[in-house]
Amino acid sequence: MPLPSVMPNVQTPEVIRVTEGRVACNGGGGALGHPRVWLTFAPDHRVVCPYCSRVFIEQAGEGNSGHH
Ligand SMILES: [Zn+2]
Repeated sequence: MPLPSVMPNVQTPEVIRVTEGRVACNGGGGALGHPRVWLTFAPDHRVVCPYCSRVFIEQAGEGNSGHH
C-alpha cells in the first residue's frame, strides 16, 4: 500500500513574504480578523502572528542571489 506523500490538510498556516523590517497584521479581515498588531521579525527573519498564526518571512529586497 502506497505511503502518503502529503500530510493531511492540518493547519497549513498562511505564509506572507514581506520586504520591510516590520509588518502589521490584522488577520486579513473576515473570520480571522483581529485587532491590528505590529510584528517584529526575529533574528531568523520570521515572525508568527499570535492571533491568526500567519507566518511572515522577511525577504531581502535585493542582494539575494537566487539559490534555486
Ligand atoms: Zn494576524
